[in-house]
Amino acid sequence: MSTASSTSQPTPSPLPLRLDSAQKSSETLPLRPKKKSSFRSAKLRLQIEDLSSIGSQVFLSAVNAATVLEDAVRGVQELLYTPDSEIPGTRSITLILRSMPGVAYTTGSSLDNDHKEIHFSTDYIQHIAKDRCREEILGVIRHEVVHCWQWNGHGSAPGGLVEGIADWVRLRSGFVPPHWSRGSSDRWDAGYQHTGYFLDYLEDVYGEGSVMVINGWLYDHRYGEEMWKTLFKKPVEKLWDDYCKSLGKKPVNSQSVSSSDSHVLQRSCDESTSSDTDEIPTPEPGSPSQ
Ligand SMILES: [Zn+2]
Repeated sequence: MSTASSTSQPTPSPLPLRLDSAQKSSETLPLRPKKKSSFRSAKLRLQIEDLSSIGSQVFLSAVNAATVLEDAVRGVQELLYTPDSEIPGTRSITLILRSMPGVAYTTGSSLDNDHKEIHFSTDYIQHIAKDRCREEILGVIRHEVVHCWQWNGHGSAPGGLVEGIADWVRLRSGFVPPHWSRGSSDRWDAGYQHTGYFLDYLEDVYGEGSVMVINGWLYDHRYGEEMWKTLFKKPVEKLWDDYCKSLGKKPVNSQSVSSSDSHVLQRSCDESTSSDTDEIPTPEPGSPSQ
């Protein structure tokens, strides 16, 4: 780490300015030693395809690139696992900033699904409102990192539930976009924030760790109605009705969306090596990408 040269050997070309003093490193790089976590770690990498793109520059100025992934991994694991839980064998996560349509998606590498890639659009980042940049970038990364460490019932979990868990983690991590609102869908499995808020209700009513238990169920079971009945003693339609009532809303046709309709939304991230797509072709109203 030191730039000090050793004795009289011909010195190789000088390294471009590295941090050369203790005084500087403590304030510019928050690489303070952290307590060794008992959680699973992975090799974390950052790949920027075009450093000159505005989106890349916005990213680098809005967040600490050195710690953003590590913080997300830690945050996700704290909400979805205990140190004793069975946890997916993810070995590396590469965050790739590149120009592409949509927002972001997570995929397994073509060689090995334990190596994950998070693709994040620099075009999207470029258009985030200035005062929302940091929160939005952290929120998207938090959501995507969930897909690197979540169970999905061997590919059987409805896409809405998979995405809902990811947005629930984002919600609990405090990165809530201004356009999100509780109770803005009529379906428990509408996914994203809609299912995320429903899961948050379960967490409140049935106790901390409820979502962790759902995720744990999806480790060694295929998804089915019995999951809700076993864990919460009620069918999901009843839980959804309770949730709607808690918001002062009348439940709307929750019976009709319980099974086959949900398959429309199935886009499980781990059903193959590469299919979680979080692209949002049309930004939601109030979305920062507008
Ligand atoms: Zn997602």
